[in-house]
Amino acid sequence: MKGLVTKSTGSWYEVLGDDGLRYNCRIKGKFRTKAIKTTNPIAVGDWVDISPEPEQETAIITHLHERRNYIIRKSVNLSRQAQIIAANLDQAFLVVTLASPFTSLGFIDRFLVTAEAYDIPAGLLFNKLDLFSDEGLQILREYESIYTNIGYPCYEVSALRGTNIETVKGLFKDKTTLISGHSGVGKSTLINALHPGAALRTADISDWSDKGRHTTTFAEMIRLPFGGQLIDTPGIRELGVIDIESHELSHFFPEMRALMHECRFNDCRHINEPGCAVLAALEEGDIAPSRYESYLSIYHGNDTRA
Ligand code: GDP
Ligand code: ZN
Repeated sequence: MKGLVTKSTGSWYEVLGDDGLRYNCRIKGKFRTKAIKTTNPIAVGDWVDISPEPEQETAIITHLHERRNYIIRKSVNLSRQAQIIAANLDQAFLVVTLASPFTSLGFIDRFLVTAEAYDIPAGLLFNKLDLFSDEGLQILREYESIYTNIGYPCYEVSALRGTNIETVKGLFKDKTTLISGHSGVGKSTLINALHPGAALRTADISDWSDKGRHTTTFAEMIRLPFGGQLIDTPGIRELGVIDIESHELSHFFPEMRALMHECRFNDCRHINEPGCAVLAALEEGDIAPSRYESYLSIYHGNDTRA
């Protein structure tokens, strides 16, 4: 029977079977992800085949279906293995607030670069609209224009008041959507607004494994009553630009990607090269200075994730 992995603790997987029942599953045999070494062979969002055990709510995962895409983060342990956070995503949205807490442009840009690197369409949800003063709104609109100009959709919402929640429902309907954001931006409130009665998760998702080592529980999938599912990712701090070669970085900035064929040198780094189309566009004001700053910061490996 085919099923969808909706939850994972590392050794147990919750699978929603095609029969509509939920099974607690274990893995039998080896599952390898091509190309990368991973600590977890199966992740939330994976499609699997399961073989239910007689007269129990448990099953064995016997087969992993090919993934359309997946996103990883560096493992918490010191090996160079990666952890798969989620698979088969249609889109990713970052929940952003400009006050309490402040989400920096650098953080937004890292998220978007990550989504580009995984080829997952991304957008921004600016939450807590009800808190903005006129002046605050003006700054908000400036931020939004930076992103809408380069093709990332932006939405203004108030999860608390329910403002534009219908729009968000339309965005998420029948899709598998990853949502992320700093703790406190209102993800839980948003999930509750979309799905009243969804289990409220605690803010701190880190816990201790039975071996006493610090582990992080994995992402969880929330089925939306109007169709589609959300994957709420813990540990956004580690979710980052992993293993992007610096010479490839500009591919993941759409506004740079559009221009780089016009640079004089085809291996242009867009830093100080003569005849650089990106630097020219920056000079002209066609590339936002904050975006270019993020490019430099990621290029040089500076940590601006906070
Ligand atoms: P999470 O950590 O991202 O899950 O954030 P929570 O949903 O727990 O929200 C953190 C705090 O922000 C709570 O006190 C919420 O009531 C508040 N909050 C969430 N959304 C809004 C909003 O749209 N407007 C206002 N004013 N507060 C909000
Ligand atoms: Zn260039």
